[in-house]
Amino acid sequence: MADAEGLLVFADESPPTGPGTDDAPLPWRVLIVDDDADVHEATRFALKGIPILGRPVAFLHAHSGAEALAVLRREQDVAVVLLDVVMETPDAGLRIVSAIREELQLTNLRIVLRTGQPGQAPEMDAISRYDINDYKTKNELTRNKLFTTVTAALRSYDQLQRLDASRRGLQKVIEASNDVMTRPGLRSFAEGIILQMASLIGVAPEGLVCASTIDRSHGDDAPPHFEIIAAAGRFSGLIQKPLEDVADTRIVGALRQSLLERRNLLAAHSVTLFFETPDRHAYAVFVDAPHPIRDLDQNLLHMFCTNMSLCAQNIQLMSALREQAYFDRLAELPNRAAMLRELDRALDDGSSKAQALALIDIDQFSAINDLLGHPYGDELLRAIALRLNADFPGCFVARVAGDVFGLLGQREVLTPAAIDRLFAKPFNIDQVDHPVTVSTGIVHLRDVAGSGSDCIQNAYIALKRAKAGGIGHHAYYSESIANETRDRNRMRIALHRALVQGGQLYPVFQPQLDLRTGCVVGFEALTRWRADDGGHVSPEQFIPVAEQTALIVPIGEWILRHALGVLEKLHQRGHTSLRMSVNVSAVQLRQPDFLALLDRSLDATTVAPGHLELEITESVAALGIDQVRTLLEAIRARGIAIAIDDFGTGYSSLSYLHRLPADRLKIDRSFIHTLDSGQGGRIAEMVIPLGHHLGMKVLAEGVETESQQHRLRALGCDEMQGYVLARPMLADDLPAWLDAFRPAPD
Ligand code: C2E
Ligand code: MG
Ligand code: MG
Repeated sequence: MADAEGLLVFADESPPTGPGTDDAPLPWRVLIVDDDADVHEATRFALKGIPILGRPVAFLHAHSGAEALAVLRREQDVAVVLLDVVMETPDAGLRIVSAIREELQLTNLRIVLRTGQPGQAPEMDAISRYDINDYKTKNELTRNKLFTTVTAALRSYDQLQRLDASRRGLQKVIEASNDVMTRPGLRSFAEGIILQMASLIGVAPEGLVCASTIDRSHGDDAPPHFEIIAAAGRFSGLIQKPLEDVADTRIVGALRQSLLERRNLLAAHSVTLFFETPDRHAYAVFVDAPHPIRDLDQNLLHMFCTNMSLCAQNIQLMSALREQAYFDRLAELPNRAAMLRELDRALDDGSSKAQALALIDIDQFSAINDLLGHPYGDELLRAIALRLNADFPGCFVARVAGDVFGLLGQREVLTPAAIDRLFAKPFNIDQVDHPVTVSTGIVHLRDVAGSGSDCIQNAYIALKRAKAGGIGHHAYYSESIANETRDRNRMRIALHRALVQGGQLYPVFQPQLDLRTGCVVGFEALTRWRADDGGHVSPEQFIPVAEQTALIVPIGEWILRHALGVLEKLHQRGHTSLRMSVNVSAVQLRQPDFLALLDRSLDATTVAPGHLELEITESVAALGIDQVRTLLEAIRARGIAIAIDDFGTGYSSLSYLHRLPADRLKIDRSFIHTLDSGQGGRIAEMVIPLGHHLGMKVLAEGVETESQQHRLRALGCDEMQGYVLARPMLADDLPAWLDAFRPAPD
């Protein structure tokens, strides 16, 4: 029979039954308390064999107040006590009444007082205070009257019990909602439903939740698929199995019937509840009941089902939200938050010792995006995601930043060699093969002291180290790298402050000499930093830090302006042929307004562009050789010269050299130092004609001795710079130095 809203239907509407036998109704328990044995006998005789409200009556007996209390302490579910007032003492009965209500707290137990004489009646206030149901003189208790009195008392007890049960049940429904809502994920929610339902109907938490899904890819009329999504107790092994795999036909039948007929089933030994969310996700929960379920209030079950349906819907919404929060739609991979969660889990449960996290950064991805367009970049990311998943099957793969993928897996699997192998083959995008190189930072989880975010941070430290080595490199996280990173961070902060406050950074100038004429031809401007503690920080240390944080941009602008200002003054003093060399890093060249900056700086002085030279290193090739060429040509078109600095170190790719339009080649000082030793001259010997062949002048850096100077001149080197001539000097010292300088051609 369906209830008002057709939600709740019970297969078996038989009246409540008691434990033991399936069909015999549970008897009402009535306690007779009297010191007169005849009263016991007469009462029993009067009510014998007559069912009351559909249930038989069973009697308990006590012959004194003390015995009555002992029985009530021992026995459960006593419904009515027929109580003699005067027994061992004139108020023995009333004492029991007080014990029942106050000490034993049996508030539902109905009390019928019986006395020999009307004069022994209790006071009116006692009757209401102790909730005494009825008061009769013994001779009033004829068979009919007794039946009526006991029936009224039992009815009242039954109602109180039901009220209690539904109050408790209601509490449970509310608790159930609270409990299941805090469980993340549908599976856990479903487990919660089994627990709560078992608690509501008073059985052990053993049961199954079956979900009904329709695979819409087979059309809207596709048959539903039933799967066990949660199981508790002896059923736990059945989780994630199709319903057909459950051996017990009784369970399969109940779940299937409930889901197909979309209704609850209350059978003799089981309860199956049906839930449905508004978006038509359907679940059926089966709970075994070793004894038939008694007194199950239908309203309560209805409320439970409605509440759980709402909860299920909320859980689905939350799961969907959570899904979005942890998923990267572009690469169709878990995102950084998901990786963090996974790392936290691994670090928590101790499974992490043998694991590693690799961060894989695609080299020059922003250049790919700029050159080939964002849709192309997106395609490439998806292709890489697919291959990562396919080639590292046991690993957790996520996209943790724009062009950075994270892989979490066994240490011996996540090796640089394995990652290199994966990227050795190009990626085919739009029928074109696209070779990709990556930089990789790897951290072993056993080296991580904190949480998942510390782990990612460490991997980033390693990645940064890898990138510092150029493209296609990898690095492992270590304590010393972390310390260096910390030092660099401190330096970055201090450098930033120095730049903002002013005064700590200042330029120095080192002269450059024409080896043939012996005349000074120009100066190189170099930055110096006097730190807070008064000590000097070497540019070899702070320039790379400035480059990594783009602080080099304002620093570069500042030194360019100063250097031109100093040169202008030297020109005004008559040294009109001098040029000024300023170091420019790749980060500066990448600024879109770099040319505008050059123009602005030159416009601010009377210095002609032909007297300015920019020193770049071969590392600018990393920006993309074609872009660099275009930019350098634009610079040279203004009359500004280009020098290739530190030649022979870093990239040292001769293939780049002839493609970089430049005026001067500066041989790194490391090749000059070895000039004095037999073998050392070889490189200088090779580089000087090479530079000439490419139409450049060649300048030797770091010349410290006269013999080096002579040797260089003999080798045909055009110019030099070094301590043998002068150390870098303050601007104020330059005029005096120039005045004192005498060319000394030999
Ligand atoms: P660099 O451009 O190759 O500068 C030449 C370096 O060699 C300078 O070091 C100079 O002091 C040093 N040097 C000159 N003569 C000798 C010598 O005879 N022996 C030895 N051992 N060293 C000599 P410094 O000033 O420490 O600069 C180091 C590097 O820092 C520079 O190398 C340059 O790459 C970078 N740098 C310095 N200032 C700036 C700047 O304002 N902007 C940029 N982007 N880089 C700068
Ligand atoms: Mg230089
Ligand atoms: Mg140099």
